[in-house]
Amino acid sequence: MQGVTVVDHPLVQHKLTLMRDKTRSTKNFRELLNEIGMLICYEITRDLPMTTVEIETPMARMTAPSIEGKKLVFAPILRAGVGFLDGMMNLVPSARVAHIGLYRDPNTLESIEYYFKAPEDVADRLVIVMDPMLATGNSAVAAVDKLKARGVRKLRLMCLLAAPEGIETFHKAHPEIHIWTAAVDEKLNEHGYILPGLGDAGDRMFGTK
Ligand code: URA
Repeated sequence: MQGVTVVDHPLVQHKLTLMRDKTRSTKNFRELLNEIGMLICYEITRDLPMTTVEIETPMARMTAPSIEGKKLVFAPILRAGVGFLDGMMNLVPSARVAHIGLYRDPNTLESIEYYFKAPEDVADRLVIVMDPMLATGNSAVAAVDKLKARGVRKLRLMCLLAAPEGIETFHKAHPEIHIWTAAVDEKLNEHGYILPGLGDAGDRMFGTK
C-alpha cells in the first residue's frame, strides 16, 4: 500500500496479537502499547539525517555518528496516543512533546479540538503524530491540519492499527505524509470502530469501561 509501512517485525506482530485478545488486563494492555510504541518508533526514525561529532573515548579521539538537527517532537493525540509515549521517550529521551486534545463526536464522528500545546519552535522540527487507532482518519487529519497551521512541514504518522477507510481519508487530506502501523485491518463498523481491531484503545488502556 502506497505511503504506508506495516511494521511486520515478529515482536510487534506477536505483541499486537496479545493486545487484541479481549481478556488482556488493563495493565498488560498498557505495557504492550508502550513496548510496540518503542519498536515502531525505532522504525520511524530509521532514516533520520546523521552528522558526525568529534569525541574522545578513554582510548583515543574519534569521529563518531550523531543525529543531525533539532530534537524530535512526539505529538500524541489524546487520549490513546499517550499510550505510545513512555516507550518512545525511553528510546528518544530528548524529544519534545506536543499534546493534541481531540475527541470524536459520537454522532458525526467528526473531530473536535479541546487542547493544543506544542513547543514554540515546533515548525523547525520533525513531528511524529501518534494516533494508535486510525479509524475514520478524522482525528489524524485534524491534528495534522493544526500542526501545519503552526508551520510544521516535516511530519510522520504513527499508528497501531489502521482501517483502509482511515488511510484513504488521511492521504486524501495529506498525501505526502507517510504512515507507519503494525497492521491494516479489514474495515470500520457502523460506529466507526475498526474490525477486527481491539476495541476502544483508550478504554482498554485506562480501564474506563
Ligand atoms: N478508536 C478506538 O479506540 N478503536 C477503534 O476501533 C476506533 C477508534
